[in-house]
Amino acid sequence: MLNRRIVLGALAGLALASPALAQGTPAPAQKLPVVASFSILGDFVKQVGGDRVAVTTIVGPNGDAHVYQPTPADAKAVTAAKVVFVNGLGFEGWLDRLIKASGTKAPIVVATQGITPRTGFVDHDEDEKPKGKDKHAKEEHGHDHGGIDPHAWQSIANAKVYVANVRDGLIAADPDGRDAYTANAAAYTAKLDALETEVKAALARIPAEQRRIITSHDAFGYFGEAYGVVLVAPEGVSTESEASAKDVARIIRQIKAQKIPAVFVENITDPRLMQRIAKETSAKVGGTLYSDALSDDKGPASTYIDMMHSNVRELSAALAS
Ligand SMILES: [Zn+2]
Repeated sequence: MLNRRIVLGALAGLALASPALAQGTPAPAQKLPVVASFSILGDFVKQVGGDRVAVTTIVGPNGDAHVYQPTPADAKAVTAAKVVFVNGLGFEGWLDRLIKASGTKAPIVVATQGITPRTGFVDHDEDEKPKGKDKHAKEEHGHDHGGIDPHAWQSIANAKVYVANVRDGLIAADPDGRDAYTANAAAYTAKLDALETEVKAALARIPAEQRRIITSHDAFGYFGEAYGVVLVAPEGVSTESEASAKDVARIIRQIKAQKIPAVFVENITDPRLMQRIAKETSAKVGGTLYSDALSDDKGPASTYIDMMHSNVRELSAALAS
């Protein structure tokens, strides 16, 4: 009883003390309604917006934004939004239609503005591709490798550009929040700096010749370039095109020839293809990587920072041996 009273007393003291601790401009009673096209971007907007914004995310946890079908509720959220944040680089193929249908006049902020997009892809089939400009080469390959890679968030350096664009978009829509958005963005960017150092160190501990993996779609190109991992995928940069039997056969040959140690399933794709590939080779299934979406709150990747930690943990566990 005595303990309970002490606890209650302490809580009451805390409640009285907290208003005095609050600093800066208080958040407005009406939060700024904003939309983010997918969960990873939604997290950046929440980090920068803090308690001044109410974020609606269109493609939620574990969702595949490449093949998403917008709902009437999405159109409603876009209509009500004061800013709409999108990835761009061709990631959200359904976006223009949704914006038009919603009739929104809100500014559309492209979060990858200023990022250098990957347009060339890791040439994983050099030994097989006809060297000449054979017009059948692309057909035979089954999918187009000539497009832009939209998965820029997988490099932490790029994530900092997303955060700066989100900050500027929020300030433009809500100038009264300038100090709050600037401070939140700076604090979060400092966390991303620390994360970047940590991720580089963790991957550097894996022997370079072990840093080769297979994922189902080509979502980790920016990650691979930034942190020295070779990633190969039977599907292209979008999940829209399914891997052909030829693509799968090529991957299997490549795993054997290059002794690629592990294949990974992704949270947004069907794991069966990767499981089948693992079965036909000596590669092990190295766990789940979060590629294009966060996990739900109960999962290991409910924020961008946790997603990076989770992915690096899975990679290290499968490759560092
Ligand atoms: Zn993707």
